[in-house]
Amino acid sequence: MTVRTRFAPSPTGMLHVGNARAALFCFLFAKGQGGDFILRMDDTDKARSTEEFAEAIKADLAWLGMDYDETFKQSDRFDKYEAAFDDLKARGLVYACYETPDELERKRKRQLARGKPPVYDRAALELTDEQIAAHEAEGRNPHYRFKLSGNAIVWNDMVRGEQKIETASLSDPVIRRADGTWLYTLPSVVDDIDANISHVIRGEDHVTNSGAQIEIIEALGGKVPVFAHFSLMLAADGGALSKRFGSLSLRDIRESGVEAMSLNSLIARLGTADPVEPVQDMATLIKGFDMTRLGRAPARFDAEDVTRLNARILHDMPYEAAAPRLAAMGAPEGAAFWDGVKGNLKLFDDVGDILRLIEGPVSPVIEADDVDYVATALDALPQGDLTEQSWSEWTQNLKESTGRKGRALFMPLRQALTGQAHGPEMQHLLPLIGYDKAVARLQGKEG
Ligand code: GLU
Repeated sequence: MTVRTRFAPSPTGMLHVGNARAALFCFLFAKGQGGDFILRMDDTDKARSTEEFAEAIKADLAWLGMDYDETFKQSDRFDKYEAAFDDLKARGLVYACYETPDELERKRKRQLARGKPPVYDRAALELTDEQIAAHEAEGRNPHYRFKLSGNAIVWNDMVRGEQKIETASLSDPVIRRADGTWLYTLPSVVDDIDANISHVIRGEDHVTNSGAQIEIIEALGGKVPVFAHFSLMLAADGGALSKRFGSLSLRDIRESGVEAMSLNSLIARLGTADPVEPVQDMATLIKGFDMTRLGRAPARFDAEDVTRLNARILHDMPYEAAAPRLAAMGAPEGAAFWDGVKGNLKLFDDVGDILRLIEGPVSPVIEADDVDYVATALDALPQGDLTEQSWSEWTQNLKESTGRKGRALFMPLRQALTGQAHGPEMQHLLPLIGYDKAVARLQGKEG
């Protein structure tokens, strides 16, 4: 069996981290099994779906590094849904209902008042031809429900273990609205069958849907896929993550400057008992992914964790991976620069600040108490090409000649040379600043 998974967002908004997690599980699982990852746009809601959102979803997936093998959209497949619908209807598995939303609501309330579960009573199946004709004459259009079998549907969920849905306790699901538009249930099933989806990996909010969907798949003669329903992700404060909660949209996270792999590394492990670790590339993440490690407790997402992980990802990033981006920023060639600065980065773009320390202009900071010391240091600066050894030779000499040590020895030099009290190791910066600029800055000149 070829493993085929699909990520099926609706292009009605920007993706958020919860969606990224669904996509990541589908992607990692498929790729770990040598299978295909498919992007399906659930765009049957024509009023709310837009091409811009679809493009934004693709851009987000590209950023995250989840390349899909195939993509299609539901709006291209209405004839397939129509055919499946006609087939089910001809076999009496789909039936027309004429209740208005108000009438359904009143029924529901009556049932609840009598202490009964608010399950649809299938009154529509009892309608006479005259009653149907009267509804139609009134201008009512029917909506349609799928007739559940009343049996228990059982499956072995990859995350939740054995699942049992008693369809007798469910309302027959509405699959088509009175205006002819589709609810998600039937199109999704038709697509999963036609695309040979082997594993449906999605959030646990779909568990009940799965009961009805398994019956529809079977009714359509499809092969029931393996299901995996993972627990939902909550915000760090326990609140819901919503698509409309802009601060956690993937685009915002991308624009904040973090590495995609920081986010991927985090969300691959949230909700598992395994520790979150910085992982440099998708290939490694794929190898380490095991869906059965996912637990049933909700996963809590804290944006701060991404920031923390980002620093660790940068500290571990090999020069070869950073090189093209460093070149684009005009950083000096060679691993020495990267090895010298990466430990100080929170975001890759911080390289720009470090380059400004090197290239200048820097306004040297020389405290009144340190004027003489800095003048002594200028005289003692090793002549000519500065190397990685220059800093230790220089400061060792100064330590002996001035008796200064620790912060009093190093900080005035750092502040004169960079204008700042913090930054990468001076041993790495000094050769990059170079002799001429170092002299000028030790003389207190901007440059
Ligand atoms: N469009 C559906 C959603 O976003 C897809 C669910 C599924 O994976 O089947 O909820």
